[in-house]
Amino acid sequence: MEKSGWNYAQNRECPYFPCHKVADGEEFNCFFCFCPLYALGEICGGKFCYTESGIKDCSNCPLPHLSGGYEFVMKKLPSVTELARKK
Ligand code: SF4
Repeated sequence: MEKSGWNYAQNRECPYFPCHKVADGEEFNCFFCFCPLYALGEICGGKFCYTESGIKDCSNCPLPHLSGGYEFVMKKLPSVTELARKK
């Protein structure tokens, strides 16, 4: 997908940039600074692990920041909407 203001942003002024190790820093997408899929726990589809105390750790998952990351997140977003549905 073509990069534009609604699916791509990069903030090199951020003190954490790039917050994940990627091969090409020029392509790092900051659009999803906090991954909207975090609440999906083990079914987010990313490269997470759990700490000994049970906290989900996304340190090794650059997915939302890579090329195609926007599409990956948007495809899974209905699952987050379902989580928030009134039961
Ligand atoms: S950053 Fe990666 S591992 Fe963490 S919630 Fe998002 S897709 Fe899943």
